[in-house]
Amino acid sequence: MIKAVRGTRDLLPPDSDLWNRVEGKVRNLFARYNYHEIRTPVFEDTSLFSRSVGEETDIVSKEMFTWEDRARAQSEKAQSLTLRPENTAGVVRAYIEHGLYKTGTLQKLYYIGPQFRRERPQKGRYRQFYQIGAEIIGPPSAGSESPARDAEVLEMLATLLDEVGLKGWQLQLNSVGCAEDRARYNKALREALQPVVHQMCADCQRRAETNPLRVLDCKVPEDQPIIEKLPKIGEYLDEPCRQHFAAVRAMLDAVGVPHSINERMVRGLDYYTRTTFEFTHGGLGAQSAVLGGGRYDGLSESLEGPKAPGIGFAIGEDRLVLALQSQGEPPRESVQAYIAPLGAGMGLHALNLARELRRAGVTADLGDESFRLKRSFELAEKAGAKYIVIVGENEVASGQFAVKDLSSGEQVSVPRAELTRQLAK
Ligand code: AMP
Repeated sequence: MIKAVRGTRDLLPPDSDLWNRVEGKVRNLFARYNYHEIRTPVFEDTSLFSRSVGEETDIVSKEMFTWEDRARAQSEKAQSLTLRPENTAGVVRAYIEHGLYKTGTLQKLYYIGPQFRRERPQKGRYRQFYQIGAEIIGPPSAGSESPARDAEVLEMLATLLDEVGLKGWQLQLNSVGCAEDRARYNKALREALQPVVHQMCADCQRRAETNPLRVLDCKVPEDQPIIEKLPKIGEYLDEPCRQHFAAVRAMLDAVGVPHSINERMVRGLDYYTRTTFEFTHGGLGAQSAVLGGGRYDGLSESLEGPKAPGIGFAIGEDRLVLALQSQGEPPRESVQAYIAPLGAGMGLHALNLARELRRAGVTADLGDESFRLKRSFELAEKAGAKYIVIVGENEVASGQFAVKDLSSGEQVSVPRAELTRQLAK
């Protein structure tokens, strides 16, 4: 038997109802903050990711689904393609490719879609997973560099998590500084690692040379005591970066978004500058990050675009749904009415009634005239219906229909002409 590939999964009802509810709420919120949707392709030129996310990151060095796409015609070139492991690079590519910077204004773009990483699958970690993300990007003259953008994004995220009903989230912040700070910090890390790196894993040994910051992403337990003692990036920020970070924090305090500082959080992607953040939730176990993001002031230029500072985030939708389920969030959307035809020829009348109800906005499910009454009741309950309406010969002849409340057992008799109005209540 053919099964779903390791690390992928099917989203089935009733869980998919909760997914859709989350997406509906999130789209509504993005509209209120004046974000608009962008949809970029699921696969891109491999070099887009190696140049932006970074060669030495776990994502690029181990986790990408990459293949050599052969040319089908003389006019085509063979090309290395990759299933997107994240969506910021694609959004910034599109921003440059379509000249969105020419508007001179901030672009506020959001996306919802699958991402692909060949990670070791476990609860909350999949090889195809879904992200809900957004980016604010634009020329500095549009305010893209201002700490107010960081605060606005973080305030929006706090509101988003509140509105979808997540309780007890925590926000952790850090600043990873600008390119110059990073160069100084990398030098300090290299020096601090030099006497100890031979005790560390092979990845750390390589990274200590090529990109020491990425040593901080190491998850090997034996390496952690060494990593704990390494210098912290906060000590290497220049004055403008320090002030930027202080301004972000002051604004978060002013709007009442609680947060704490985590100086170890450098996030596993190279393009981040200045503010980085993660929201975590206790209901998730080991994979506690519901979402992550940060500023990427140099990303556009590294992809040969204009200067276009930006900030964005990606919510792990799988994890957000898991966290909501851990709080007992009910998945199913309720059915208002179950229409139960009883006896030959009654299906037609029931179909007509269901059509009328559905067109009036009532969620209605329809039975089958071959079902006995007992079975109709069972199925109505299974469907989670609030009411059952029996459509039998007597009802059709008299024009009076019994509407039974399935939870209280109460029953009222309603004239045919009144049915839709009664059930739409
Ligand atoms: P990142 O793009 O690595 O910054 O991740 C942003 C968010 O995406 C994380 O906080 C997770 O919630 C989610 N995420 C990342 N990788 C996975 C994965 N393999 N499976 C499920 N969710 C993931």
